[in-house]
Amino acid sequence: QNPRDADISDQQDGVVEASAPLPPPTPPPLSEYKVLVSVEARLKPSSTARIDDVRTSIERMLENRNLTYVDGPIPVPLDDPFLTENVERICIGDTDEWVLNHEVLLFWQVKPVVHVFQLSEEGPCEDLSGDGQLSTFNEWILPAREFDGMWESLIFESGLKQRLLRYAASALLFTEKGVDPFLVSWNRIILLHGPPGTGKTSLCKALAQKLSIRFNYRYPQCQLVEVNAHSLFSKWFSESGKLVAKLFQKIQEMVEEENNLVFVLIDEVESLAAARKAALSGSEPSDSIRVVNALLTQMDKLKSSPNVIILTTSNITAAIDIAFVDRADIKAYVGPPPLQARYEILRSCLQELIRKAILSSFQDCDDLVLLNYTSMKEKLNMPAGTEDVQTPFNLSKQLLEAAEACEGLSGRALRKLPFLAHAAVSDPYNCDPRRFLCTMIDTAKRELSEL
Ligand code: ADP
Repeated sequence: QNPRDADISDQQDGVVEASAPLPPPTPPPLSEYKVLVSVEARLKPSSTARIDDVRTSIERMLENRNLTYVDGPIPVPLDDPFLTENVERICIGDTDEWVLNHEVLLFWQVKPVVHVFQLSEEGPCEDLSGDGQLSTFNEWILPAREFDGMWESLIFESGLKQRLLRYAASALLFTEKGVDPFLVSWNRIILLHGPPGTGKTSLCKALAQKLSIRFNYRYPQCQLVEVNAHSLFSKWFSESGKLVAKLFQKIQEMVEEENNLVFVLIDEVESLAAARKAALSGSEPSDSIRVVNALLTQMDKLKSSPNVIILTTSNITAAIDIAFVDRADIKAYVGPPPLQARYEILRSCLQELIRKAILSSFQDCDDLVLLNYTSMKEKLNMPAGTEDVQTPFNLSKQLLEAAEACEGLSGRALRKLPFLAHAAVSDPYNCDPRRFLCTMIDTAKRELSEL
């Protein structure tokens, strides 16, 4: 039977449509809804270009290129003198919340939202509380050089960073649109709690930095004030009331400027509860209860200002003042990193040591790239014998063993581990990655036994 006959008979049976090859996918019309993807462009410190001009240039560049979108940096085009002169880095971020086509979004599925920013190089401005002994708060102008890259370096169970970002974005939008708080209530208070060293404080700072970049079209100025609650209660209770008043007066002044977005980070809020309890039991002067109350009252006052977000952390969940917990809109538990996060944290450490030539790369591959967790798992699930046994795979497998051995270590301990391991290897100046990983596993076991 020749093929044409087959076609005809199929047609007669009415099956030809089903067996016909599918037409190639056509891009939807441009007007159709697209996935919004943030593209962040960091200006050079020397740049004096207008943000709007740079944004338009980048939008044009993105339109002209049929890029695929994956998280990470994209090159500043060398054939564009305006961009090369002014832009230090262009980076696509946070596409992970979307339905991805094997982690790649095609250019026609995407509407890039370009955020152009310049980092503040000023560093923290420290307030020494009156007599110059103990600083009560630090202040940064955001986005700050110190916090650059922090958001990307923090790895949690999936979704936590996105959840916080979206929450804060919604809160700012509700405020901007003037949603009536009697009808829909929301605060701008976030509480992160969990064991020490799990990245809570860093996440608060990184979130503030991210929001300062994302919302710079609305708030061209942005500040972060970091208050150490513990310092408010140490030493001199009689002074603390005054300190709180002084601090909040300063914050109030910042907030009055409506183009200012202000983040207030209160670390270790559990010390508030501890102070109140101690006051009740009579072991601390009753002054402290007034300080806690003053702080809560001041926070309530700030709540009515649309341009302030209060970020708080606590190392102990149970001891947080109930009055405080009630005020927070988002209470997120940040625990020790799960396996995938441990693997990715250690992978980023190792990748840095390879980049800086502390770990010697192999002769046959100059830029050794360790597999990410997902690719690693995919390879491991391949039928035996079909997986490739190249060096990165073997090394990644060993890294997975290390990540498994680190169960129970905090993010802070994990980031320190490669350093401790390096100090323990026998050949620190010519360090073989495989031997290094073995030492790292031993070091992890030792660290865990000492917890
Ligand atoms: P916490 O406030 O929970 O005590 P920190 O924010 O002070 O923790 O974390 C200290 C350091 O540990 C961070 O600067 C970071 O280098 C590292 N770290 C902690 N948790 C993580 C994490 N989940 N991912 C990556 N690094 C982490």
